[in-house]
Amino acid sequence: MKIEVDKGSGFCFGVVEAIRRAEEWLEQDKQLFCLGDIVHNNSEVERLRKKGLTTISHEQFFTMSNTTVLLRAHGEPPEIYKYAQANNIKLIDATCPVVLKLQKRILKSYESGFKDNTQLVIYGKKGHAEVNGLVGQTKGDALVVEGIEDLEQLDFTRPIVLYSQTTKGLEGLHHLTEELKNRTTKVPVKIHDTICRQVVNRIPGIKKFAVRFDLVLFVSGKKSSNGKMLFDICSSVNPNTKFISELNEIDPNWFQNIASVGICGATSTPKQLLEEVASHLTQIQSGQNV
Ligand code: SF4
Repeated sequence: MKIEVDKGSGFCFGVVEAIRRAEEWLEQDKQLFCLGDIVHNNSEVERLRKKGLTTISHEQFFTMSNTTVLLRAHGEPPEIYKYAQANNIKLIDATCPVVLKLQKRILKSYESGFKDNTQLVIYGKKGHAEVNGLVGQTKGDALVVEGIEDLEQLDFTRPIVLYSQTTKGLEGLHHLTEELKNRTTKVPVKIHDTICRQVVNRIPGIKKFAVRFDLVLFVSGKKSSNGKMLFDICSSVNPNTKFISELNEIDPNWFQNIASVGICGATSTPKQLLEEVASHLTQIQSGQNV
């Protein structure tokens, strides 16, 4: 069985930088808190936990003081910064520059939109950390739509300005744009494609990769938005694509009569994990107990 790891998969620069900042701090101090999992990947969270990085929830954060907390690449709403300042919490802000720029654009739009009663809309996943950070720029006023079914909550007599979560898919955004334009003929509608190119640029490569194999193992954390989107892309070109998060989810029976396996993943999947999946398959192939 031929086994190949996709060279284009692995962490994006936003995640690489957040991990670098965490490790840099942990070299001088044995303890650092991270607000939410640093990356949607259990093995990486566990690796960093052993070095001293403790994941805390938002509820826990709001009970803390006099400590140091890392903000991951997804970004956070303004109340996190305010609370930190009032409670002597040093923040190591690893918000990805792409997300930071989007937060600033949304804040500016929100502030200038009062003049003509513009509705600010975010195309994204409700409750996702990045989306919460974006909605926070608008004091909670932005409407979050996950798809066409959510458009009912909009007032089509008022101007609309829409931004997308950085990890949404282009196709979904195009559908939504068409639908919005069909429904609004009398008011201005501004659509901002703010999808991160680190994700979008992987699509052609991952399609070409996935189509070459009898079976594809797509490795990603279950909470990763871009993982879900890239998995759907792989499945669309190769229906024999399996989604896994951990080695123990691999079923050796999948590989009967399979001559080639491709291994790829999300922007939050470590290259190391993809390599481990490849070695695991080699062991399965050689009949070792795994
Ligand atoms: S996917 Fe893009 S926006 Fe998100 S962390 Fe990576 S580089 Fe930043």
